[in-house]
Amino acid sequence: MQQSIHNASAAKHSKNYSTFDSGALAAWVNNSVVLPGLGKVPGKLFLKDLLGFTSCEMSINAMMPGGGMPFHHTHVENEEIYIFIHGRGQVQIDGETLDVREGSIVRVSPDGVRTWRNNGRDTLVYIVIQMRDKSLRQYGLTDGVVVPDKPVVWPG
Ligand code: ZN
Repeated sequence: MQQSIHNASAAKHSKNYSTFDSGALAAWVNNSVVLPGLGKVPGKLFLKDLLGFTSCEMSINAMMPGGGMPFHHTHVENEEIYIFIHGRGQVQIDGETLDVREGSIVRVSPDGVRTWRNNGRDTLVYIVIQMRDKSLRQYGLTDGVVVPDKPVVWPG
């Protein structure tokens, strides 16, 4: 997958973490990815390979006013979660149209036939998380473990 990242600072990888500065939300429109059959998709950046995710794919997205996905799609085995963080738009799932805006979160089953558009005046900024449907075994406090005998100390 060929991606163009507007922010020249590369991702950093350490033993137990990786980081990437994606820049201001307003600059996300300058990212792009080339997808087979679709050509260049502006404003989209996939993060899995960039940061070494092993359990999900995630993209950060900025769609200009008047923009929209030119097709519907489904997934083979992954559910998707769309988190809208700026602007207004609409998501259509199985023919039903939902209005979304900053703060809206939409989860779509693999079989959900979906498309979306920006019908607002601002850039529609959103995050898409894609992970295997029904794969989560532990979560929250059933998976988190407090590290004993390690007081929290910050430099400075
Ligand atoms: Zn998808």
